[in-house]
Amino acid sequence: MAYAYDPENIFAKILRGEIPNNTVLETEHCLAFRDIAPQAPDHVLVIPRGPYVNYDHFAQQASDAEIVDFTRTIGKICAMLGIQPGEGGNGYRVVANSGEDAIQEVQHLHVHILAGRNLGRMLPKFD
Ligand code: AMP
Repeated sequence: MAYAYDPENIFAKILRGEIPNNTVLETEHCLAFRDIAPQAPDHVLVIPRGPYVNYDHFAQQASDAEIVDFTRTIGKICAMLGIQPGEGGNGYRVVANSGEDAIQEVQHLHVHILAGRNLGRMLPKFD
């Protein structure tokens, strides 16, 4: 499967410094910043610096170093926000919308870290 990455997507522009962002953490392979339209008191997006469209693209083609850094960065953000359930925090949700059915709006892989309120059940009941 070939993935068509559009370098004009808004997160690519953020990575190039063409659009400002509210940075939470920068690492060698990732950038984490606050969502512009937060859906919870803490709503942070973590993106890889590499040109990956979505999660499965990243899982297939990213290097081990990129994948490790991405995963560890998510954990570091949770620690910075004090939301780790095992460390006295109230918990969080990590979401990666990928493709049409998930209504992915920005075509550069990102995970949402949501926390700071009761987030409800993940989805309405399906029948
Ligand atoms: P998704 O629907 O999973 O593709 O989510 C895209 C997210 O990007 C939404 O939650 C938007 O609010 C967020 N977003 C879009 N533009 C920006 C921006 N310039 N800075 C921060 N977050 C943004």
